[in-house]
Amino acid sequence: MLGQMSDHPLTLVHAFNRAERLFAEKTITTLTATGRERQTYGEWARRTRRLGGALDALGVAPDARVGTFAWNSARHLELYFAVPCSGRVLHTLNIRLFPEQVTYVVNHAEDEVVFVDRSLAATLLPLIADAPSVRHVVVMDDGAGEVPADDRIVDYEALIGASSAVDFHVDDENQAAAMCYTSGTTGHPKGVVYSHRSTVLHSLGVMLADTLGVSERDTILPIVPMFHANAWGLPYAAVMAGSALAFPGPRMTPVAIAELIESERVTVAAGVPTIWAAALDELDGRDLSALRAVVCGGSAVPQALSEAYERRIGQPILQAWGMTETSPVGSVCTIKSTLADLPADELARLRASQGIPMPLVEVRIVEPGTTHEVAWNGSDHGELEVVGPWIAASYYGAEGDRGSSFAEDGWLRTGDVATISPDGYIRLVDRTKDLVKSGGEWISSVELENAIMAHPAVLEAAVIAVPDERWGERPLACVVLADDHALTADDLRAFLSTRVARWWIPERIEFIDQVPRTSVGKFSKKTLRERFGAG
Ligand code: ADP
Repeated sequence: MLGQMSDHPLTLVHAFNRAERLFAEKTITTLTATGRERQTYGEWARRTRRLGGALDALGVAPDARVGTFAWNSARHLELYFAVPCSGRVLHTLNIRLFPEQVTYVVNHAEDEVVFVDRSLAATLLPLIADAPSVRHVVVMDDGAGEVPADDRIVDYEALIGASSAVDFHVDDENQAAAMCYTSGTTGHPKGVVYSHRSTVLHSLGVMLADTLGVSERDTILPIVPMFHANAWGLPYAAVMAGSALAFPGPRMTPVAIAELIESERVTVAAGVPTIWAAALDELDGRDLSALRAVVCGGSAVPQALSEAYERRIGQPILQAWGMTETSPVGSVCTIKSTLADLPADELARLRASQGIPMPLVEVRIVEPGTTHEVAWNGSDHGELEVVGPWIAASYYGAEGDRGSSFAEDGWLRTGDVATISPDGYIRLVDRTKDLVKSGGEWISSVELENAIMAHPAVLEAAVIAVPDERWGERPLACVVLADDHALTADDLRAFLSTRVARWWIPERIEFIDQVPRTSVGKFSKKTLRERFGAG
């Protein structure tokens, strides 16, 4: 061998030092309950180093899990770096999880300290009354809320004000940096641990021009919560690239978000489909000339929503797919240059797919429960499986136990059912647990929902399987109408008759006021099945 490269570790300490050194004048803006706070990366870096010192001063163990129960903010970003760069593990807690699940995950992770926004303190404290590992609760002032009496409470500003700045060192790139629990739609939430290496590589992944292209010229707005799979990795990538950042804090209303996008000249904003559906009316008519990417994922992006964005704000939605287990971005729907001349309707349909895999992420579709691969022909479907340097290989506390989530050869079984086209575009047709199997044939609930949502009177639709004596299962459509619109079930069936196969058309259509949501804002089909599934 003639020589070799250094095995210098890939760690977040490098990203932090780089931002501090090169981008000290770039800004981070956070909305509070009452106003707007602005700081530079330089100020942020000084505070982050002091926060590292504060963790030492509190006696938090060098490899402890540090919980956060917080909105998206610059302070949360201080934790995003001070915790892993001081060797500890950032554990972002989902503020909308069922109370008993929050208690479960704090105890399971054995968090030593939890950082909480003042507006959320009254929600959190009862949940950690029975969490013996939690020795300190640090309150961050976001402008609202009462702080209940608890002798573990410490004030964030007082804490870092009294602490000295530290140097960060992490030698082992495989050391844990952060962890996040899945939202636990079935069974207990499961912990996914991200290493420094996986986080650095994922950040580089979303910085690539052919994915999200996060760059120094961007102003990034993660609307997706920082507790939902690291806000899709955007805060880490933004710091690594030196992008300006905007955070909505507790102000998650459509109007506050639209106003923030316009006033901060946001270039990239990311959120789940329900957020973008709610924000469209507020965005329409504003100066969005800086906006270059409306990133959307977390659940299926209705084609009608993407087309409405293109028509009304001049920007179709950029869809991404991923899971907590995949750091989370696994694929992004960028349009290849060879497909750019497709007719508009075909492009719109392509944009409603989950796109092509990121570099370094391997994908396959298999017959469920086997490693037998299904062809990439755009029509045959199978369970989507993935592997790569930022894809989980096990769950926290279950290392070495593959369970049902990993194939024999270690690939992650996503629970998503997909087709892949010959040119590599992934199209999810369902989740394994949501599939409708009627008379031995599968109906894609996603396709059916898209067809229903193409009706102008329909705001939202969710399709679930209900038991049926003759066919085994039939689809039931839950439909939310747009304001001031009327539609009968027969009208809708007539509309569908030209768009889907006859046997897909649901006999049962339920008009409801709102589709119930999960803790991260996705349609909760489980709740709908409980409500309508019995017959
Ligand atoms: P949970 O499984 O509890 O909802 P995750 O946030 O990890 O937690 O969800 C991952 C799942 O979300 C994926 O397996 C997939 O079913 C769904 N999902 C993510 N992105 C998309 C997308 N762009 N289109 C359709 N479904 C998506």
